[in-house]
Amino acid sequence: MSDRIESVVRLISRLSVILPAYNEEEALSKTACTVSRILERARIPYELIFVDDGSLDNTWIEIEKLCETDAHIIGVHFSRNFGKEAAVYAGLAQSTGSAAAVMDCDLQHPPEVLPDMYRLWQQGYEVIEGVKSSRGQENLLHRHGAGLFYRIMTKATGVDMQNTSDFKLLDRKAVDAILSMPERSLFFRAASAWVGFRSTTVSFQVQERVAGKSKWSPWSLTKYAFTNIVSFTTMPLQFVSFAGAACFVLSLLLLLYSLIQYFSGHAVEGYTTILTVLLFIGSAIMMSLGIIGYYIARIYEEVKHRPRYLISKIAGVQRTSWESESRDGKDNEKK
Ligand code: UDP
Ligand code: MG
Repeated sequence: MSDRIESVVRLISRLSVILPAYNEEEALSKTACTVSRILERARIPYELIFVDDGSLDNTWIEIEKLCETDAHIIGVHFSRNFGKEAAVYAGLAQSTGSAAAVMDCDLQHPPEVLPDMYRLWQQGYEVIEGVKSSRGQENLLHRHGAGLFYRIMTKATGVDMQNTSDFKLLDRKAVDAILSMPERSLFFRAASAWVGFRSTTVSFQVQERVAGKSKWSPWSLTKYAFTNIVSFTTMPLQFVSFAGAACFVLSLLLLLYSLIQYFSGHAVEGYTTILTVLLFIGSAIMMSLGIIGYYIARIYEEVKHRPRYLISKIAGVQRTSWESESRDGKDNEKK
């Protein structure tokens, strides 16, 4: 498409807003109402795609109710909980707009920022990243854990990931590029940085949750961090070689020390030294095997080639446009 036609299309194009929802019955209608009001006031044509990630409460019933009363709303229901990343991918695959925004369903990502993102997209930006100006309320462990995770991810992607979020707006080109990435376990935030394109950032303040509780426990966050690090970098494997080299240097030093002690007539205390060395090397080997094992597990998951998610129901008006028709064909091939 020529630049001129593309900018005309951008003036009248629909924005798809993707909202993953897991046990969000309390927040849902308020979120739908707030986002719709803001987009209507800004005169942005839109569709809202709620993806129910196998909620255990009445989230799906709420989504169906919204779909009956509002033609802008589409609901996708998973057969079980597949996780937020999967919900985001399902929403992107379902979207028909020329641009797609992703935001949390609890209004922690302020929808007032959406019109600003949309305007930047109209000016020609293809990836507009929401960057947290403050991280909201978090405990110390969470803050430091998140800090370390993002430092590793920044090294892995070569893009500054500190303070990034899942709140972003993507051009159709970036959406299609992300959807074409075949990995089952893909970290959306890093994928949108990896695809490149003309990017910019918009800063926002993380809001209080409108209702309900966060779905993350410290354990699920740790698992999430490991999975995403492994899906984007082989750095931990290099740590295995590093640990091996460090063990080798330490054992040389110990050997030297033992020989000096031996020839000077003070033999090293045998049992304690051997036990310490054995424990040290043993734990280094176990840790290394663990890391390698984790990568093998990820490879196993990938080669099984199972779908990222399974949709059990779809509600709302199914839009057809020249864009969605061509993409639906591609999606069906994938499933
Ligand atoms: N979410 C999801 N599947 C999950 C967990 C969370 O779709 O398994 C959704 C959730 O409904 C919300 C967003 O992901 O819209 C962010 O989750 P949450 O607010 O619990 O995370 P936090 O804001 O505390 O990081
Ligand atoms: Mg939240």
